[in-house]
Amino acid sequence: MWKQSILETIGHTPLIKLQKVAAKTKATILVKVEYFNPGQSVKDRIAIKMIEDAEAKGLIKPGGTIIEGTSGNTGMGLALAAVVKGYRCIFTTTDKQSMEKVNLLRALGAEVRICPTNVEPDDPRSYYSVAKRLSEEIPNSYYPNQYDNPSNPQAHYETTGPEIWEQTEGKITHFVAGMGTGGTITGTSKYLKEQNPDIKVVGVDSIGSVYLSYYHTRKFDKSQIAPYLTEGIGEDIIPTTIDFDYIDEVIQCPDKEAFVTTRDLARKEGLFIGGSCGAAVWGALEYARINNLTEDDVVVVVLPDSGTRYVSKIYNDEWMIQNNFMEPPSSRVADFVVR
Ligand code: PMP
Repeated sequence: MWKQSILETIGHTPLIKLQKVAAKTKATILVKVEYFNPGQSVKDRIAIKMIEDAEAKGLIKPGGTIIEGTSGNTGMGLALAAVVKGYRCIFTTTDKQSMEKVNLLRALGAEVRICPTNVEPDDPRSYYSVAKRLSEEIPNSYYPNQYDNPSNPQAHYETTGPEIWEQTEGKITHFVAGMGTGGTITGTSKYLKEQNPDIKVVGVDSIGSVYLSYYHTRKFDKSQIAPYLTEGIGEDIIPTTIDFDYIDEVIQCPDKEAFVTTRDLARKEGLFIGGSCGAAVWGALEYARINNLTEDDVVVVVLPDSGTRYVSKIYNDEWMIQNNFMEPPSSRVADFVVR
């Protein structure tokens, strides 16, 4: 038995029970480990769906160019699809992203333009604006725009949602996911709530993002915007791919808690994952604690990507210390000497 191409290995990722990291809650915490996808992230699911929907509508033709503003993971999925299907790829990203992510895209033959992070989204230098301009200038190009493409949440409605429902045999009570474009949480939630409207859906945001205040007020509050280091979650815009009607609660995770939990997941569970995964698990554990979840609760948390993209940051002690996410070495040496 063989696959016709690497694209057929997308989805059907494992669901794994947390052992040590979730010891303080009585609830069962299950993680959906998306680095088992060929591009090592959840975004393979939306990449293939956006391209195949565009092909079906005649929006992209053979030999065309795919242009996208991406933090890396969507780019990886699009680059894989482009290699197999014969398209050229140009990506715009921000200077906040790991060089590992950029180099991975280049390894698959994509062109990557790096744009400044701390400019307004409508500034002509922003990665949104540059992607849009390139798509207007380059003939026979297609701009999937994951922030404004219904195929994004739809991919999760068709794959992530049904997989979780089957893997938990319908026992899921809570679904937790980080919110970037919101595609994962919106599409998965829609499917799960159609099966059982009592399922509670919790979105995890970053401090410095507009989502938490938007969720409470339904108003865009620019004053919330501040720099933060967790990659992939939180936004400074409200994309059309997020629908807060499918979200029951929003929790903001500080960078430090996200990264400490990320490292815990690697060292205590053997899950070598990215920073937004730590944020999502921290959010799930906070929710379980605040709401006194019991042994009857089955919480599913999406872990979007792999740790390989963050070895020089989250998994690097020097970087953690410089950013005050970890104690400096003097106290660690003292611990060692005492022992
Ligand atoms: N984590 C990472 C690492 C991501 O790249 C993304 C996508 N931006 C997310 C979480 C959030 O997923 P979504 O866009 O579906 O909300």
